[in-house]
Amino acid sequence: MDSTRHYKNPYEDYSTSTGCNIIKTDTNTIHDAFKSSLTSEVNKYIKILKENEKKWLNDDYSVYTGQAGIAWTLYYYGKYYNDHEYINMATEILQKCVTKFKSKHNITFLTGVTGSLALSAVVLQQNKEKVEQLILKLKSLSTNILEKHSNLPDELLYGRAGYLAGLLYVNANISPAPIEADLIKKVVSSIINSGISYASSNRSQSPLMYAWHDKEYIGPAHGLAGILYLLLQARQYLTQEQIDNYIKPSLYFLQKLQFSSGNFPSSMGNSSDKLIQWCHGAPGMPALFCLAYKVFEDDEFLQTAIQCGEVIWKRGLLKKGYSICHGVAGNGYGFMHLFQQTKDIKYLYRACKFAEWCFNYGSHQNLLPDRPFSLFEGLAGVIYFLLDIQQPYLTKFPSYDI
Ligand SMILES: [Zn+2]
Repeated sequence: MDSTRHYKNPYEDYSTSTGCNIIKTDTNTIHDAFKSSLTSEVNKYIKILKENEKKWLNDDYSVYTGQAGIAWTLYYYGKYYNDHEYINMATEILQKCVTKFKSKHNITFLTGVTGSLALSAVVLQQNKEKVEQLILKLKSLSTNILEKHSNLPDELLYGRAGYLAGLLYVNANISPAPIEADLIKKVVSSIINSGISYASSNRSQSPLMYAWHDKEYIGPAHGLAGILYLLLQARQYLTQEQIDNYIKPSLYFLQKLQFSSGNFPSSMGNSSDKLIQWCHGAPGMPALFCLAYKVFEDDEFLQTAIQCGEVIWKRGLLKKGYSICHGVAGNGYGFMHLFQQTKDIKYLYRACKFAEWCFNYGSHQNLLPDRPFSLFEGLAGVIYFLLDIQQPYLTKFPSYDI
């Protein structure tokens, strides 16, 4: 075990005594005492975020590391506490991101204009005319997505699955759903066809395989797990043949890659059991395998997710930092997926302990993020996590859980 990457977990695991004042066992929710600690931490950090706005109001307009992601946290905070100052601030920033985003090549939710378009449409949904414009612009990006020879990858961060995330997000949050089923079917089919073609020309044992920068990544951000998770969330747009012949056997293939520790490799052919973070390794996997269990009712999928939960608990307090992409907050989300699926309060307790670790934001890390206030690398993501777990049945990892 590589202990240079993580701190020894100092917390005792869940029991009725350790869970006291953290878990409310009669309702399977978070205890009011712990909720009020979460609230005071959130308020403390949101103040820091606002005080430092000059540092993050820069020329990065993405959800991943830029203004759109920070706006998402401000919006969530404003909605949660019914504070219009934050909602208005977020709305303004998001609209600015839409107009300022110039690159036509960045088309995903996390790194492209799709994120600010989708978030703006949801935030402004009372303004029908405005939403229509935003949706038109969002749909117009599909030309590039559906172009067979566009050299576009398929992964979540820079590829087609990241565009699919935007389409699914607006349909899940605006009523009536503004994106036609026909377009989503075309996008999912182009992702599947690309995976079939890559897998067959590279003799992959998985019916679907993808590469990003010549590497067959496994995790949510760049790899197979993220693509399969988005496709599985779009299952209403898939044919039974696509589900049975491609998605399901690819899930079985992926499942077999799990190390005996419970962790996953970051890419094919890489046998090092090192990284435990949302973007690489076990933490992003419970989301996928809990959903696979729900859809296919195979208990083995749930066991895979449970094994992930064990290794995250042991090795998830990273020295790298606190972020949701490659830090402790993101690892906490792994427990939330397990909690939502199993209703076992042990997982909610574990997520709360990882949240508690984040109360000392910045004091246990040996790497300073490049974008220290951002949603995926910095403080905005930690605030999002501390807010999000307070409604544990509704918790959703931003742009990954639709
Ligand atoms: Zn990462």
